[in-house]
Amino acid sequence: LDRNLPATEDLHDWDRTHQLHPWAAMDDWRGYDHMMVDSAKGIYLWDGTGKRFIDGPGGMWCVQIGYGRREMADAIAEQVMTLPYTSPWTTTTEPSAILAKKLADMAPGDLNNVFFTTGGSTAVDTAIRTVHFMNNRLGRPDKKIVIAREKGYHGSTYLASSVTGKERDKSRFDVEKRLVRFLPDVNPYRRAEGQSVEAWCDEKVADLEAMIAEVGAENVGAFIAEPILCSGGVIVPPEGYHKRTHEICRKHDILYISDEVVTGFGRLGHWFASQEVFGITPDIITCAKGLTSGYLPLGACIISDSVMERMTDPDDAALFANGYTYSAHPVCCAAALKNIEILETENILEHVRALAPHFQKRLQALRRFDIVGDVRGMGLLGCIEGGAKTLAGERRLGAMLDEVCEEMGLLVRPLINMAVFSPPLVITRAEVDEMFDILERALEEVS
Ligand code: PLP
Repeated sequence: LDRNLPATEDLHDWDRTHQLHPWAAMDDWRGYDHMMVDSAKGIYLWDGTGKRFIDGPGGMWCVQIGYGRREMADAIAEQVMTLPYTSPWTTTTEPSAILAKKLADMAPGDLNNVFFTTGGSTAVDTAIRTVHFMNNRLGRPDKKIVIAREKGYHGSTYLASSVTGKERDKSRFDVEKRLVRFLPDVNPYRRAEGQSVEAWCDEKVADLEAMIAEVGAENVGAFIAEPILCSGGVIVPPEGYHKRTHEICRKHDILYISDEVVTGFGRLGHWFASQEVFGITPDIITCAKGLTSGYLPLGACIISDSVMERMTDPDDAALFANGYTYSAHPVCCAAALKNIEILETENILEHVRALAPHFQKRLQALRRFDIVGDVRGMGLLGCIEGGAKTLAGERRLGAMLDEVCEEMGLLVRPLINMAVFSPPLVITRAEVDEMFDILERALEEVS
């Protein structure tokens, strides 16, 4: 026994006493014991007792290439020894320049301008500040309202939480209300009985048009949407939804911000989902998470040439005063480059496209359980939502599955009456089966 290592009980005690975790329940924030993860490899995590778990949520929808990659450690270490930091204000670096070019090549259309951030929230923050800057620059200071969607999640900075449509995620905080409007729930599972998905889609598109008419197109600067609304319950839009909302935005000169923080970097089998999956070229794409597979924090806001042109005035050197000490951090950029190289050389996007039908078939098969109200997903994304039976009782499906699956060696991400999945993209067919076999046993147990 290494006498210098603190005892596990001490670690738990220090953690509970001194560490404030995200989304702490403030009735008794010191009372909650977080699982202490010891190590990880591939799609598996181990806790301090040596128990192994499949990482169903892939960290927080981010660990695309899986854990324990020596190549990542080497690339990170090498960059640390070559150049761990330099100011992005006054200097630039090889990894950030290469990564910017790479992202510009990957992004659709004329999205050629990359602003590096510290994660997804700051990428969204940057996108909204871009809308503000552009419209101030163009002499239309009123055109700034951002239309967002109920249940959408865009992050935890002031602006990103302001456009987040999950009330629970911002209750007791002050947010920007003057410049944000929300479209009603876009989940087809909640459509009126007997209403077709097509009619529901028409209604949702009409909601956007009506809101623009109500607020006045001259006051609306942007529309922000996740290609698949992820934290809000993996809500997959029906055919045509994004194309039609995108066209409406074009018609009214409203910038379309596609928040690809989850859907980027292979989750749906493509670098980005906007163009490849949903057929639209947004004005701005925000991304993070899978950009480094969670090995280090990094995000990016990718802006179109046409927006950049409208932000530029040769006669006025106004500063786009947006940025962070750790913008374009060279070590994080080196991690992103190695991560992208792994995704490319191991053909992981092709792997996702080939495996997704099996993953989705196993997911759909869970409908047979009475306790399940809906299942939905795309690519290697999935969600199980509890039905009427779980709404009647005290406990919701998320918490029930969380507890039983954990015992069986699978971590799920509970979201009230839902559990969501986004395993590492390197998951094999046999591991997908292992995951869904556990889920079936767990659903049997809680049914
Ligand atoms: N946007 C989306 C769609 C997200 O899912 C998230 C995080 O889950 C964010 C933005 C915020 O990203 P971060 O937590 O890296 O700030």
